[in-house]
Amino acid sequence: MSTSMSSDNLDGQKERVVYIGSQELSKISSLLPSNKQRSSIVHALVHAFKLMSPDFSDSKYLQVIHPRKATYKDLATYHTKDYLDATLNYIPQLKDEISQTLQMEFGLEDDCPYFAGLPEYMQLVGGATLTAVISLQRKLADIAICWDGGRHHAKRSQASGFCYVADCVLAILALKKSIPGSFGSGSSEGHPTQSQRKPRILYLDLDLHFSDGVSEASEPQCTHISSYQSQTLSIHHTSLGFFPPSKLANLPDVSASDFDPYTLSIPLKEGASSSTYAKIWPIVARVRDAFEPDYIIVQCGVDALAGDPCATSNWCLGDADGSLGWYIGKILKEWPGKKLLLGGGGYNSPNAARAWSYITSLALDNPLDLESNIPDHAGFPLYAPSFTLDVPQGNMVDRNTEEYLDHILQRYELIVQRLAPLVASQPH
Ligand SMILES: [Zn+2]
Repeated sequence: MSTSMSSDNLDGQKERVVYIGSQELSKISSLLPSNKQRSSIVHALVHAFKLMSPDFSDSKYLQVIHPRKATYKDLATYHTKDYLDATLNYIPQLKDEISQTLQMEFGLEDDCPYFAGLPEYMQLVGGATLTAVISLQRKLADIAICWDGGRHHAKRSQASGFCYVADCVLAILALKKSIPGSFGSGSSEGHPTQSQRKPRILYLDLDLHFSDGVSEASEPQCTHISSYQSQTLSIHHTSLGFFPPSKLANLPDVSASDFDPYTLSIPLKEGASSSTYAKIWPIVARVRDAFEPDYIIVQCGVDALAGDPCATSNWCLGDADGSLGWYIGKILKEWPGKKLLLGGGGYNSPNAARAWSYITSLALDNPLDLESNIPDHAGFPLYAPSFTLDVPQGNMVDRNTEEYLDHILQRYELIVQRLAPLVASQPH
């Protein structure tokens, strides 16, 4: 994949934050059957808040980079030839003639139907995340944002859970190939060996749903992204019958023969609120500390926020301890390494736009006031009735009891005890 990105700074005094976007990307991403128009709504609000203005922040500025289309070869780094043949060669007029068997084999039915524009969608969304990756590898920025990415359910040879292209896995694979010495952040003090070792990638998934497509690709028996170079940690809701079914969605058992400390999960019960997320933050921080990543990919799915049609969790955007904004703020400010912020689930499109606009302002080191009025723009009526930025907590009862959270904390004591020496024993 090639790109013509410039390394010139708009302003030598300001740090660049890369933002992947284009009219073409927005248009094609807005066709996604599960999230129609969401991409356009998100980018329009980011624009309306003037986050793209060079004057928005005193210390940073947003550089919009148009995504390049991923080539067949880029996508084939992970996806199978058969799957790519089925998705990239899709012709709408032949939809009815494509056999049911073929649709079933590749998951192209039910929640992942064929849709007009699917080939371009695969190329542009896969390409958007890879463009963000390249911008980090080329040291154009320490933070890259791609709200159209984060399709964490897509499998190597199957579409699943509204996800057709496994851009998160493609990102991990591309980052693993970074040339030693060509990566690392200027803020990575305390990592003297960083430039000599192979890059390490932490994939943190904040979506309501388990990151099965990424975590299963990371299992030791799956040779695609498995190795000491990548660590996955998914915080999600899981319960009997809740999508996606996967044994990896459960709390890891260190005594199990197939326990893999590089593939971790924190399963939460219904109604998870910011106080629950605040309680588990030390675990997230300890996993990061043990793994010492050079790159951090955060899948910022927003379907765990209150007001989402999934109505399973009760997280808030805000800046209260444990909120989504608080999490991202800590990751951006306290963790060394380069960050790739991806989108994901989120079926209340105005709330997704609120959350991702706010996170973009955090990345620019100039957080928007959560009480801000939504600026006047074409999408304005969608923000009724509050017409303000925040996504506050609702009234749902948080079923994550003190006992349950203590149980998770205790289990992670054992997990980190296993992870830390394992990481320390890997080549530097
Ligand atoms: Zn989700």
